[in-house]
Order: sequence, then structure tokens, then C-alpha cells
Amino acid sequence: MLSKVIPEEKIIATLKAINKADKIVIVTHKSPDGDAIGSSLGLYHFLYSQEKATDIVVPDTIPDYLKGLPSVSEIAVHSEDPERAEKLVAEAQLLFCLDFNTPSRTGALAQLVTQSGARKILIDHHTDPDNFADVCISHPELCSTSELIFRLICRMGYFSEMTLESAHCICAGILTDTGGLAYNSNSPKLYTIMGELLGKGVDKDLLYRQLFNTYSEQRMRLMGYFLSQKMEVLPEYQTAVTAMSAEELRRFNYQPGDIEGFVNLPLSISGIRFSVFMREHNDSIKISLRSVGDIPCNRIAAELFNGGGHKNASGGESQLGLEETKQILIQALPRYFKH
Ligand code: 5GP
Ligand code: MN
Repeated sequence: MLSKVIPEEKIIATLKAINKADKIVIVTHKSPDGDAIGSSLGLYHFLYSQEKATDIVVPDTIPDYLKGLPSVSEIAVHSEDPERAEKLVAEAQLLFCLDFNTPSRTGALAQLVTQSGARKILIDHHTDPDNFADVCISHPELCSTSELIFRLICRMGYFSEMTLESAHCICAGILTDTGGLAYNSNSPKLYTIMGELLGKGVDKDLLYRQLFNTYSEQRMRLMGYFLSQKMEVLPEYQTAVTAMSAEELRRFNYQPGDIEGFVNLPLSISGIRFSVFMREHNDSIKISLRSVGDIPCNRIAAELFNGGGHKNASGGESQLGLEETKQILIQALPRYFKH
């Protein structure tokens, strides 16, 4: 038996909102990852099975490794078809906000989301959600938004009706946000959930391969370049820093998703507990931070790069040059790491 995590009144409010709405839209964050798409599709397939007209809208491109998920091609991508995406959000009566804690994470959709008159239900596992939703289901102690979707469907009383498609997408979100159950995945309850998903017929082994081991040749070469040429190891701070320019990414014919997970690689070096990967992206520098143990990535991201996230996985941005951004980090390291 799973213990009750989501408060009862929020389950009732969600159920009521679903029953009342004719047009439901699910939105998730920019640069959508496996949990963003997995949780959105998990909820989409559930609502669909209940004959609720539902659409998913994402701000920008869905990476290739997620393209095998059922009904992914139905998703409205704002950067590819802004008219359709904006119309769907504008006409929604109920807006599910999945896997983000502040509307600005939805990029070009942020204003529409904020101004929408639809009832809003936030379902997320990032800390400190903004107060913009009518129902706020925020649980940073859980591994993924997908886990929350599973719990929500069960608590609403629909576990027995959960389809294989829904279970498959939820499983994809859990696997991607835990690196294939490698981190953020010590909770015994998570394995109860995984057991239930497998019971629905999910082929976890195949899904794992589709998510983690079907990369392009160019991604593998870029990874080799990242590790052999670009990664700088600073053992005195148990840190690795990697910076890549837009020109370098272009040289490897970079496609969205190609660098997914790269920031984790240096953490496999014995003694390295903090990894930062910065790269040029659309006239600014996008920064990913990962740590093991007590190193607070979110605090460092907030203090240095106007960002945030989870303790062990955060991100931020810089408007300075690549080298300057790197120096800001390197010069700040003594503050965070006592010798
Ligand atoms: P990633 O490095 O995969 O882009 O992001 C890791 C996590 O950091 C995300 O799940 C999100 O919580 C957070 N994050 C990434 N970029 C930003 C940002 O620019 N601002 C804030 N507040 N959080 C971010
Ligand atoms: Mn997530």
C-alpha cells in the first residue's frame, strides 16, 4: 500500500475540476525533458481514457529520445506552430501545469499561462512554487512529477483503469529524472510504484534502452570531445567544469537533446562531487549544475547564475561571455568548498 502523500482536499479539487472542464490543456516547461513529457503524456492518456478532450502544449522542441513515447506526435509545440499552441492555451478551461514551479519556466507561453482565466492545477516536484495556481500539488521530496501523476491517478480511484500507455509514459518520466533509478531513488515506495507499472505491462528494459541507449553517432562523438578536450577537473574543489561554445556544438552538428546528461558524466570520476556544464545557447549561456551529497547546487545556481532547481540538480543562465561565466564560477569555488 502506498501512503497518502497528496492531501485529500487537493485530490477532490482536482477530480472536480476534471469533471467540470470540457477543454483541458497540459503545459510543461521549456527544453522539455523526460519527466516533463512523461508526466504530461501519462496524465494525457489517463484523461483520454476517461473521454476528456485534452491537449498538451510545450514551449519548444521535444528531443528525439522521447519521440517513441505513445502520442508524442499529438503534442502542440509552440516554437513549431505558435498559432495552434496559443489557441489551445487561450481556450483551455482547465490548465494542468506540470513539472515547473514558476510560469517563466514555460518561456514564450509564460504570459498566456499567467493571464489565462482557466482553473490552474500545478503538479510539480521543484521547491518553492510561485502562487499562481488554484490547486498546488508540490512535492519536492518525490523523484519526479511522473511519480505524482501516478499517485494522483491512484488516489482519484482510477488505478485499475490506468492504461499501458499511461503507465509507460509515467515510467519514462521516473526513469529519466532518476538516471535509470541511479539517483533520487532511495524511497522504497518508488519500487512499489515501479512494481505496479511493470504489472501494467510496461517493458522497462526496452524503455530504458529507448531512453538512454539510442543516441546518434554525433552525440557519442560530442560526448568524447566533452570528456577528452573540454572537461576541466579541479580536484582541490572536488569539481569539474566544462564550457562549450556554440561554434563547437555546431561542429558536431548539435541537435536538441544531444547534450542531455553530459553534466552528470564528471560525477563518475572518483572524488568529484560537483559538476558544472555551461554552453552557449541563443545569445546567452545556459548552465547546468549537478552534485552528490550535501553540495547545494540550487543555492550556487541562485547566487551566481540567477537560477535554481533541486539541491543536486539545478540550472541557471548568464548574459556574459562563456569565459567570463566560467571565471565567475571558478572564483566563487573557495566560498563553497573549504579545503
Ligand atoms: P537542467 O540542467 O537539466 O537544464 O536543469 C536542471 C534543473 O534545474 C531543472 O529541473 C530545473 O529545476 C532547474 N533549472 C534549470 N534551468 C533553470 C533556470 O534558468 N532557472 C531556474 N530557477 N531553475 C532552472
Ligand atoms: Mn522533473
